[in-house]
Amino acid sequence: MKLVFATNNKNKVKEVKALLSDRIEILSLKDIGCVEDIEETEDTLEGNARLKADYITKNYGYDCFADDTGLEVEALNGAPGVLSARYAGRNVTYEDNLQKMLKEMQGISNRKAQFRTVIALNLNDKQYQFKGVCKGEILKLKQGNEGFGYDPIFKPVGFDKSFAEMSIKEKGKISHRGLAISELISFLKINASTH
Ligand code: IMP
Repeated sequence: MKLVFATNNKNKVKEVKALLSDRIEILSLKDIGCVEDIEETEDTLEGNARLKADYITKNYGYDCFADDTGLEVEALNGAPGVLSARYAGRNVTYEDNLQKMLKEMQGISNRKAQFRTVIALNLNDKQYQFKGVCKGEILKLKQGNEGFGYDPIFKPVGFDKSFAEMSIKEKGKISHRGLAISELISFLKINASTH
């Protein structure tokens, strides 16, 4: 079975490919000739996941899935959440966002945070949503070089290392995106032929 993953984020594609069996082949937006940036204009993760999946189905005619992810920090009342990609402003780097987070959290003892992923799947003219949450805390300093985004400053509960100190497989087993993808895979096993 072939399925389009509506993202231009190479890290996300790598993570998702590492979780899927050979029976599901992932096509990226580049693979289907879509090079435009799909602007995330909704104010919820659910809304943006839906928007990205619908854009591809409407304009390119493919069944597909899209994910939207946010880092929700308790002491910051859930910020940056849906604005995680633009926390330090528009057209910023992962490093800019991460440094802003470290600065905002200076002197704050409640470091609790969670990553939340929502996946929207368009399949046979219907839409389905899958969710994954990973609880943890914001570190005071960067640790590790793997992964992307806020990974070097996020330590999941039950581990003494950051996401950026884990292999892609290790992160995928416990991460927000990994959990949401597991739900998607179970759904596809029941509802779509993977032969
Ligand atoms: P997006 O809108 O789903 O692309 O994600 C928003 C932002 O959250 C990204 O720009 C990343 O900085 C961050 N992000 C998403 N997923 C992860 C992850 O698995 N680890 C670390 N940061 C992430």
